[in-house]
Amino acid sequence: MTYQPPVRDHAFILGEVLKIDRYANLPGFAEASMDVVGQILEEAGKFTAEVLAPLNSVGDKEGCTWKPDNTVSTPTGFKDAYKALVEGGWPALGATPDYGGQGLPAVVNLSFSEMSSSANMAFSMYPGLTHGAYSAILNGGSPEQKDLYLPKLASGQWCGTMNLTEPHCGTDLGLLRTKAVPQGDGTYRISGQKIWISGGEHDMAENIIHLVLARIEGAPAGTRGISLFIVPKFIPDAAGEPGERNSVFCAGLEEKMGIHGNATCVIQHEESLGWLVGEENRGLALMFVMMNEARIGVGLQGVAQAEAAYQAAAAFAKDRLQGRSLTGPKNPDGPADPIIVHPDVRRMLMDSRALIEGGRAFLFWTALHGDLAHASEDEAVRQKADDYMALLTPVVKGYLTDRGFKVCSDALQVHGGSGFTEHFPASQYVRDCRITLIYEGANGVQALDLVGRKLAANGGRAVMTFFAEVDAYIEAREKDAALKPWLDGLADAKAQLQEATMWLMQNGLANPDNAGAASSDYMHLFGLTGLAYMWALMAEAAQAKIAAGDADPFYAAKLAVGRYFLERVLPETGAHLAKLKTGAETLMALPAEAF
Ligand SMILES: Cc1cc2nc3c(=O)[nH]c(=O)nc-3n(C[C@H](O)[C@H](O)[C@H](O)COP(=O)(O)OP(=O)(O)OC[C@H]3O[C@@H](n4cnc5c(N)ncnc54)[C@H](O)[C@@H]3O)c2cc1C
Repeated sequence: MTYQPPVRDHAFILGEVLKIDRYANLPGFAEASMDVVGQILEEAGKFTAEVLAPLNSVGDKEGCTWKPDNTVSTPTGFKDAYKALVEGGWPALGATPDYGGQGLPAVVNLSFSEMSSSANMAFSMYPGLTHGAYSAILNGGSPEQKDLYLPKLASGQWCGTMNLTEPHCGTDLGLLRTKAVPQGDGTYRISGQKIWISGGEHDMAENIIHLVLARIEGAPAGTRGISLFIVPKFIPDAAGEPGERNSVFCAGLEEKMGIHGNATCVIQHEESLGWLVGEENRGLALMFVMMNEARIGVGLQGVAQAEAAYQAAAAFAKDRLQGRSLTGPKNPDGPADPIIVHPDVRRMLMDSRALIEGGRAFLFWTALHGDLAHASEDEAVRQKADDYMALLTPVVKGYLTDRGFKVCSDALQVHGGSGFTEHFPASQYVRDCRITLIYEGANGVQALDLVGRKLAANGGRAVMTFFAEVDAYIEAREKDAALKPWLDGLADAKAQLQEATMWLMQNGLANPDNAGAASSDYMHLFGLTGLAYMWALMAEAAQAKIAAGDADPFYAAKLAVGRYFLERVLPETGAHLAKLKTGAETLMALPAEAF
């Protein structure tokens, strides 16, 4: 069973649920009519299924290879696939035409990213981080830096990385020690060790542009003394072509649980030559542009791995013959029925679909706000979109990866013992997906960011706007009897989220451990409410088509999965609310020595 890109579902979300055609007056969207987007989705599906998916298992088995001359070779086929990716213009899809990009909305680009991540997560991280580096320079770089680096990053001719983590400094970036010494000519010499740098060295692009966080000599301690630098592997010459080799080296690769095709590097800066991006000591704010984009990208990886794992599980469940249906044989001529007849196998497959289809819509809906935050001509729309992006990024990252991993684990369970062997792809999806809960800020830290910073920002404006939007949506459809179950489910989830928000306001300030103790359940409650909203939107779109006489079974299936979500997934909100309201007391009761 090979990966089948869910082109139909992407087109449904973009065209019929989000209705991106209605933004045709905005830059980028004018070129993204659904006719054009439909063709892009078809081509994206072909490219990812035919070029990237066949290399997924190759990358897993071979991994990357480090050589004593500090070079790294990628698995067989990766180099050619990367060349095809660049020649196909895929990295440029969402980049601005000012620097050679195609200028399509980020939400359209996201479609391609999800498909490529499902097809081959390890491979897709190279262009993913490159786009992040592009965005950071676009946002904070000087005009000269933009002219020099952006066209080559936009096209994918050069790759990018993010260098944050150090051996003693993971979540807590204030501990960062990498040092930058000014040379008096606007350049800096950077020294220190970075670890676990994805795509830090490889053989697929002619240059690698590292975006490095470092502390300029004499800068304040903590996060207020961190600056951002561009450190190219090959220093561009006067013509902007790769010139002298910079003293930034890959000292080795990590042996790791998954994503073997992605080079996870120890990067040694030995007085490497760097250029400051933006102002001194303001690096973290600039790096957050890249980190926020990457967090959405990691939430996407959760959905993408879930989709691929689910597909493998569904195919296996239709093929594997074990036992008989509880209601009598469904395959009477065979020795047994396919395991898809068993309700408990269905439970895992339906849980998966409810999460994948709802999660994909939530991801795309959030990303659309990223586009509107830039492109809308209306100040109020831009502000709301900006607020939503800030509020929802930790939910997209944390909730969709927690649940995406559960889908991968269930997909392995559907495979039984075969899933635990390497003859089937289920184990790779579990191993690859597991990192998504950790990097780009571990999920516990995302939850803390949500309750500690994002909720309270601007006096709670973002979350109150979200509540008002949901209320208005429900109110406007009160008379729609067919939609009632979805509206009731959404209203109930939203009421519980509101109650949890009130509880946090009353109890989180009095004792910050209450906020920490509630954070993960709150993030899940938010995720479930977000999905309830998406399922209402999707049910509404599907019902409209059916009412208009469209007999495409896609719509009936959509409603069936939506009903399953309401009955068997959404009730989890109650457990999250009950748990979070118990606060920190029992959670913090034992002294550290008791563990
Ligand atoms: C395969 C891989 C690729 C990576 N790629 C990159 C990359 O390209 N660039 C880069 O810079 N880094 C990269 N990283 C590093 C990654 O971002 C970090 O691992 C991550 O940020 C967590 O830091 P840590 O591992 O040091 O965990 P720690 O900070 O030691 O945290 C350990 C655990 O404690 C919890 N925790 C810590 N602090 C808090 C807190 N304040 N509140 C609540 N819980 C807390 C966390 O939830 C976490 O689960 C990569 C890591 C891996 C494994």
